[in-house]
Amino acid sequence: MVSDVETRMQFILGLRARGVTDNAVLSAMESTPRADFVDGIFKSRAYEDVPLPIGSGQTISQPSVVGLMTQALQVTRRCKVLEVGTGSGYQAAILSHLARRVYTTERHRTLARNAEALLRRLDLTNVVVISGDGALGLPEQAPFDRILLTAAAEDVPGPLARQLRVGGIMVLPVGQSDTVQTLLKVVKTEDGLEYQSLGDVRFVPLVEGMATD
Ligand code: SAH
Repeated sequence: MVSDVETRMQFILGLRARGVTDNAVLSAMESTPRADFVDGIFKSRAYEDVPLPIGSGQTISQPSVVGLMTQALQVTRRCKVLEVGTGSGYQAAILSHLARRVYTTERHRTLARNAEALLRRLDLTNVVVISGDGALGLPEQAPFDRILLTAAAEDVPGPLARQLRVGGIMVLPVGQSDTVQTLLKVVKTEDGLEYQSLGDVRFVPLVEGMATD
Protein backbone atom coordinates (compact mmCIF):
# COMPACT_ATOMS: atom_id res chain seq x y z
CA MET A 1 0.00 0.00 0.00
CA VAL A 2 1.19 3.50 -0.76
CA SER A 3 1.74 5.54 2.41
CA ASP A 4 0.19 8.92 3.07
CA VAL A 5 3.63 10.55 3.03
CA GLU A 6 4.38 8.91 -0.32
CA THR A 7 1.02 10.10 -1.76
CA ARG A 8 1.67 13.68 -0.64
CA MET A 9 5.21 13.57 -2.04
CA GLN A 10 3.94 12.35 -5.41
CA PHE A 11 1.33 15.13 -5.29
CA ILE A 12 4.03 17.81 -4.94
CA LEU A 13 6.22 16.22 -7.64
CA GLY A 14 3.18 16.16 -9.95
CA LEU A 15 2.57 19.87 -9.34
CA ARG A 16 6.21 20.64 -10.19
CA ALA A 17 5.93 18.64 -13.40
CA ARG A 18 2.90 20.75 -14.39
CA GLY A 19 4.78 24.02 -13.93
CA VAL A 20 4.18 24.93 -10.29
CA THR A 21 7.77 25.78 -9.41
CA ASP A 22 7.44 28.52 -6.78
CA ASN A 23 8.71 26.98 -3.54
CA ALA A 24 6.53 29.11 -1.27
CA VAL A 25 3.44 27.98 -3.21
CA LEU A 26 4.53 24.34 -3.17
CA SER A 27 5.18 24.52 0.55
CA ALA A 28 1.75 26.11 1.19
CA MET A 29 0.16 23.31 -0.84
CA GLU A 30 2.18 20.69 1.03
CA SER A 31 0.82 22.11 4.32
CA THR A 32 -2.80 22.00 3.13
CA PRO A 33 -4.49 18.58 3.40
CA ARG A 34 -6.78 18.52 0.31
CA ALA A 35 -8.48 15.36 1.64
CA ASP A 36 -10.01 17.49 4.44
CA PHE A 37 -11.73 19.69 1.83
CA VAL A 38 -13.61 16.92 -0.02
CA ASP A 39 -16.44 14.60 1.07
CA GLY A 40 -15.86 11.06 2.32
CA ILE A 41 -16.29 9.19 -0.94
CA PHE A 42 -13.77 11.41 -2.73
CA LYS A 43 -11.05 11.41 -0.06
CA SER A 44 -9.17 8.55 -1.72
CA ARG A 45 -8.88 10.70 -4.87
CA ALA A 46 -7.92 13.94 -3.10
CA TYR A 47 -4.29 13.86 -4.31
CA GLU A 48 -5.12 13.19 -7.95
CA ASP A 49 -4.82 16.20 -10.26
CA VAL A 50 -8.56 16.43 -10.91
CA PRO A 51 -11.42 18.72 -9.86
CA LEU A 52 -13.90 16.98 -7.50
CA PRO A 53 -17.51 17.72 -6.45
CA ILE A 54 -17.97 19.63 -3.16
CA GLY A 55 -21.77 20.02 -2.93
CA SER A 56 -24.20 22.72 -4.12
CA GLY A 57 -23.26 21.68 -7.68
CA GLN A 58 -19.76 23.20 -7.31
CA THR A 59 -16.24 21.76 -7.55
CA ILE A 60 -12.90 22.05 -5.81
CA SER A 61 -10.47 23.06 -8.57
CA GLN A 62 -7.74 20.90 -10.08
CA PRO A 63 -4.63 21.18 -7.84
CA SER A 64 -2.23 22.09 -10.66
CA VAL A 65 -4.55 24.94 -11.71
CA VAL A 66 -4.77 26.11 -8.07
CA GLY A 67 -0.96 26.07 -7.98
CA LEU A 68 -0.52 27.96 -11.26
CA MET A 69 -3.09 30.60 -10.29
CA THR A 70 -1.56 31.07 -6.84
CA GLN A 71 1.89 31.36 -8.39
CA ALA A 72 0.67 33.97 -10.90
CA LEU A 73 -0.81 36.00 -8.04
CA GLN A 74 2.70 36.56 -6.51
CA VAL A 75 1.40 36.80 -2.95
CA THR A 76 3.71 38.10 -0.23
CA ARG A 77 3.34 38.26 3.55
CA ARG A 78 2.33 41.91 3.26
CA CYS A 79 -0.65 41.22 1.01
CA LYS A 80 -4.32 41.62 1.79
CA VAL A 81 -6.03 39.21 -0.60
CA LEU A 82 -9.62 38.88 -1.80
CA GLU A 83 -10.78 35.53 -3.16
CA VAL A 84 -14.13 35.28 -4.97
CA GLY A 85 -15.59 31.76 -4.77
CA THR A 86 -14.68 30.12 -1.44
CA GLY A 87 -16.15 26.74 -2.42
CA SER A 88 -14.49 24.18 -0.14
CA GLY A 89 -12.03 26.73 1.30
CA TYR A 90 -9.02 24.88 -0.18
CA GLN A 91 -7.67 27.80 -2.20
CA ALA A 92 -8.25 30.15 0.75
CA ALA A 93 -6.28 27.81 3.03
CA ILE A 94 -3.32 27.89 0.63
CA LEU A 95 -3.49 31.68 0.40
CA SER A 96 -3.59 31.94 4.19
CA HIS A 97 -0.05 30.49 4.35
CA LEU A 98 1.26 33.14 1.95
CA ALA A 99 -0.68 36.34 2.75
CA ARG A 100 -1.18 38.65 5.69
CA ARG A 101 -4.96 38.41 5.51
CA VAL A 102 -7.41 36.66 3.21
CA TYR A 103 -11.05 37.64 2.64
CA THR A 104 -13.02 35.03 0.75
CA THR A 105 -16.61 35.36 -0.48
CA GLU A 106 -19.12 32.66 -1.44
CA ARG A 107 -22.72 32.94 -2.72
CA HIS A 108 -23.76 29.53 -1.27
CA ARG A 109 -24.18 30.05 2.49
CA THR A 110 -23.85 26.30 3.15
CA LEU A 111 -20.45 26.16 1.43
CA ALA A 112 -19.33 29.34 3.23
CA ARG A 113 -20.35 27.95 6.61
CA ASN A 114 -18.64 24.59 6.04
CA ALA A 115 -15.46 26.25 4.76
CA GLU A 116 -15.36 28.62 7.73
CA ALA A 117 -15.67 25.73 10.22
CA LEU A 118 -12.93 23.76 8.48
CA LEU A 119 -10.52 26.72 8.26
CA ARG A 120 -11.06 27.35 11.97
CA ARG A 121 -10.43 23.67 12.76
CA LEU A 122 -7.14 23.93 10.81
CA ASP A 123 -6.28 27.02 12.88
CA LEU A 124 -6.00 29.30 9.84
CA THR A 125 -6.93 32.43 11.73
CA ASN A 126 -6.05 35.03 9.08
CA VAL A 127 -8.93 34.02 6.77
CA VAL A 128 -12.33 35.72 6.91
CA VAL A 129 -15.17 33.91 5.10
CA ILE A 130 -18.09 36.05 3.92
CA SER A 131 -21.44 34.89 2.50
CA GLY A 132 -22.09 37.34 -0.28
CA ASP A 133 -22.01 38.16 -3.98
CA GLY A 134 -18.29 38.31 -4.66
CA ALA A 135 -18.79 39.99 -8.03
CA LEU A 136 -19.41 43.17 -6.05
CA GLY A 137 -16.13 42.73 -4.17
CA LEU A 138 -15.86 43.86 -0.59
CA PRO A 139 -15.81 47.68 -0.70
CA GLU A 140 -15.47 48.02 3.08
CA GLN A 141 -12.11 46.15 3.04
CA ALA A 142 -10.77 47.64 -0.24
CA PRO A 143 -8.26 48.28 -1.64
CA PHE A 144 -6.79 44.78 -2.03
CA ASP A 145 -3.20 43.97 -3.00
CA ARG A 146 -4.33 40.79 -4.76
CA ILE A 147 -7.68 39.52 -6.07
CA LEU A 148 -8.31 35.94 -7.20
CA LEU A 149 -11.50 34.70 -8.85
CA THR A 150 -12.12 30.96 -8.89
CA ALA A 151 -15.32 31.27 -10.96
CA ALA A 152 -15.34 32.44 -14.59
CA ALA A 153 -16.46 35.99 -15.35
CA GLU A 154 -17.50 37.15 -18.81
CA ASP A 155 -15.17 40.11 -18.40
CA VAL A 156 -13.09 41.69 -15.61
CA PRO A 157 -15.77 42.80 -13.11
CA GLY A 158 -15.67 46.61 -12.74
CA PRO A 159 -16.11 46.66 -8.93
CA LEU A 160 -13.17 44.28 -8.53
CA ALA A 161 -10.92 46.32 -10.84
CA ARG A 162 -11.77 49.41 -8.78
CA GLN A 163 -11.02 47.61 -5.49
CA LEU A 164 -7.56 46.50 -6.67
CA ARG A 165 -4.70 48.69 -5.41
CA VAL A 166 -2.44 50.39 -7.99
CA GLY A 167 0.46 47.93 -8.35
CA GLY A 168 -1.90 45.10 -7.42
CA ILE A 169 -2.51 41.85 -9.31
CA MET A 170 -5.78 40.09 -10.17
CA VAL A 171 -5.96 36.54 -11.58
CA LEU A 172 -9.21 35.27 -13.06
CA PRO A 173 -10.75 32.95 -15.63
CA VAL A 174 -12.58 34.94 -18.31
CA GLY A 175 -15.06 33.59 -20.86
CA GLN A 176 -18.46 31.95 -21.34
CA SER A 177 -19.18 29.17 -18.86
CA ASP A 178 -19.89 26.46 -21.46
CA THR A 179 -16.66 26.94 -23.40
CA VAL A 180 -12.95 26.93 -22.67
CA GLN A 181 -12.00 30.06 -20.78
CA THR A 182 -8.78 32.06 -20.65
CA LEU A 183 -6.87 32.50 -17.43
CA LEU A 184 -5.94 36.19 -17.20
CA LYS A 185 -3.40 37.98 -15.08
CA VAL A 186 -4.33 41.65 -14.69
CA VAL A 187 -1.88 44.21 -13.29
CA LYS A 188 -3.22 47.59 -12.25
CA THR A 189 -0.88 50.48 -13.07
CA GLU A 190 -1.26 54.26 -12.75
CA ASP A 191 -2.37 54.24 -16.42
CA GLY A 192 -4.94 51.44 -16.19
CA LEU A 193 -5.06 47.64 -16.49
CA GLU A 194 -2.46 45.45 -18.23
CA TYR A 195 -3.51 41.97 -19.32
CA GLN A 196 -1.55 38.77 -19.76
CA SER A 197 -3.07 35.48 -20.90
CA LEU A 198 -1.92 32.39 -18.99
CA GLY A 199 -3.66 29.69 -21.02
CA ASP A 200 -6.93 27.78 -21.20
CA VAL A 201 -8.94 26.72 -18.16
CA ARG A 202 -12.47 25.57 -17.34
CA PHE A 203 -14.29 26.92 -14.28
CA VAL A 204 -17.86 27.10 -13.01
CA PRO A 205 -19.43 30.47 -13.88
CA LEU A 206 -19.48 33.55 -11.69
CA VAL A 207 -23.17 33.97 -10.89
CA GLU A 208 -24.72 37.19 -9.62
CA GLY A 209 -26.70 37.31 -6.38
CA MET A 210 -26.94 34.87 -3.49
CA ALA A 211 -27.85 31.19 -3.98
CA THR A 212 -30.84 29.71 -2.17
CA ASP A 213 -28.73 27.36 0.02
N1 SAH B 1 -11.89 28.11 -4.65
C1 SAH B 1 -12.74 26.94 -4.46
C2 SAH B 1 -13.32 26.41 -5.75
C3 SAH B 1 -14.48 27.18 -6.08
S1 SAH B 1 -15.58 26.71 -7.34
C4 SAH B 1 -12.04 25.87 -3.70
O1 SAH B 1 -10.84 26.00 -3.40
O2 SAH B 1 -12.70 24.87 -3.36
C5 SAH B 1 -16.25 28.36 -7.58
C6 SAH B 1 -17.08 28.87 -6.45
O3 SAH B 1 -17.46 30.20 -6.79
C7 SAH B 1 -18.38 28.09 -6.22
O4 SAH B 1 -18.45 27.65 -4.90
C8 SAH B 1 -19.47 29.12 -6.52
O5 SAH B 1 -20.62 29.00 -5.71
C9 SAH B 1 -18.75 30.43 -6.25
N2 SAH B 1 -19.33 31.61 -6.87
C10 SAH B 1 -19.85 31.75 -8.12
N3 SAH B 1 -20.29 33.00 -8.30
C11 SAH B 1 -20.03 33.70 -7.16
C12 SAH B 1 -20.25 35.03 -6.72
N4 SAH B 1 -20.84 35.96 -7.51
N5 SAH B 1 -19.87 35.37 -5.47
C13 SAH B 1 -19.29 34.47 -4.65
N6 SAH B 1 -19.07 33.18 -4.99
C14 SAH B 1 -19.42 32.79 -6.24
